[in-house]
Amino acid sequence: MQQFQQYIDGAFSDGAAQFESKDPATGQPWALMPEARAEDVNRAVNAAERVFLDPEWTNMTATQRGKLLLRLSDLIAENAPRLAEFETRDTGKIIRETSAQIAYVAEYYRYYAGLADKIEGAFLPIDKPDMQVWLRREPVGVVAAVVPWNSQLFLSAVKIGPALAAGCTVVLKASEEGPAPMLEFARIFDQAGFPKGVLNIITGFGPDCGSVLTSHPKVAHVAFTGGPETARHIVRNSANNLASTSLELGGKSPFIVFEDADLDSAVNAQVSGIFAATGQSCVAGSRLVIQRSIKDEFLARLKEKAENVVIGSPQDMATEVGPLCTLRQRDRALDLIDRSVAQGARLVIGGQVPEGAGYFFPPTILDCTDAPDAPCVTNEFFGPVLSVLSFETEAEALAIANDTQFGLASGLFTRDLTRAHRMMRGIRAGIVWVNTYRAVSPIAPFGGFGLSGHGREGGVEAALEYTKTKAVWLRTSDDPIPDPFVMR
Ligand code: NAD
Repeated sequence: MQQFQQYIDGAFSDGAAQFESKDPATGQPWALMPEARAEDVNRAVNAAERVFLDPEWTNMTATQRGKLLLRLSDLIAENAPRLAEFETRDTGKIIRETSAQIAYVAEYYRYYAGLADKIEGAFLPIDKPDMQVWLRREPVGVVAAVVPWNSQLFLSAVKIGPALAAGCTVVLKASEEGPAPMLEFARIFDQAGFPKGVLNIITGFGPDCGSVLTSHPKVAHVAFTGGPETARHIVRNSANNLASTSLELGGKSPFIVFEDADLDSAVNAQVSGIFAATGQSCVAGSRLVIQRSIKDEFLARLKEKAENVVIGSPQDMATEVGPLCTLRQRDRALDLIDRSVAQGARLVIGGQVPEGAGYFFPPTILDCTDAPDAPCVTNEFFGPVLSVLSFETEAEALAIANDTQFGLASGLFTRDLTRAHRMMRGIRAGIVWVNTYRAVSPIAPFGGFGLSGHGREGGVEAALEYTKTKAVWLRTSDDPIPDPFVMR
């Protein structure tokens, strides 16, 4: 079995223990991963803190940090096929998707390389004639970054890129479910020329590693992507040292289609919204909210597409839907479907586990017209399962769209411009895609409302998450300070 190592203080080492990682396409172990426990976490955080205070890093100009990020971006682009292979092998995400996504990850680092020396302070027009006041934006300190198993190279880029651009140092905990791409990424990062300890990459389990890291007294900010339950633990833990947090959590995003929409585009976008990444996407458009007059036609078209999806080995470029990452995910999806059908949801297609090895799960559609409160309507699946609800009026569409505790993304298909504007204002979600779905860019902020979390990744906003302002007051008068007992 292939063996991987963790990356602490610019060196590769074994963890306190080891665990086996399984190939989701076969269900068989294929690699041995380092398991970080408290001692490894401490080493990593101490290294990140040491370099955060070291003049080699603190005196480095923002432009120079940007150049290092640019070098990293080039290295990722050069090594993209290799990184894609590891991500596909360890998480089951199809190679077609990992190849495209990793090429774009390089663009995220390029964006933050360019942004590093554009994080500006301010000069304030203060209301006292003998004072000058500047605002400096300073890095918050050591960042603990924790990511889930889906799209780890991408989800870590939107943390590491802005954090390093802002001058922070980072300890990243890769997911215990498929850490290979991040441990391989460490080898590439190591060649970029950053001072030792600026980025440390470890992997391990929630209680023995993630929890120790996110409650560590030397951590100033926790950047987390994962489920809301884990986020609650993290927020409670962050109370130890009052660390700030940015939380990118899940979603139950509505995909709203009006009868005037371009149905060819809407069907394709819905297929991409729910079946791409085998539905293991935080922005999955998992609730189709469809106008009643076109429901039957739309469902028939979707069903036909779902029937013809190519399910197969994630390593094969022709595959469109691969396995789920874990058996636990598959069992959870089956349970949610069973309970939803028992409450009146109608299975339109899918729902049956195919024979053979691996954690495969077919594209599944549940018509929930008669079961609007079924668990499949309210719970995130994190799998290729679409729940369908219908409406008559625009007001009803908006009410259904917002009837969720989440608020990450949403899709809206209509040719009516004024309606698009009204809906876009009314939808409570961090992203509204109009006549498109699943578009992302390093330039655009990304994040949620409600249980989908707080803080933003992507864009300038993300870099500001990793800074604190410092107000610097300079008195310009040579006169003695007047009455010391009066605040001026
Ligand atoms: P998860 O919350 O179980 O795990 C995420 C990470 O947290 C893992 O690295 C895990 O080891 C770690 N962790 C677990 N317990 C911890 C603890 N007590 N303290 C600190 N760390 C701990 O999530 P998952 O099941 O791996 O991933 C799926 C979830 O992630 C879904 O809800 C999905 O929607 C969400 N997600 C969100 C986004 C986004 O950008 N909004 C992107 C991808 C995934």
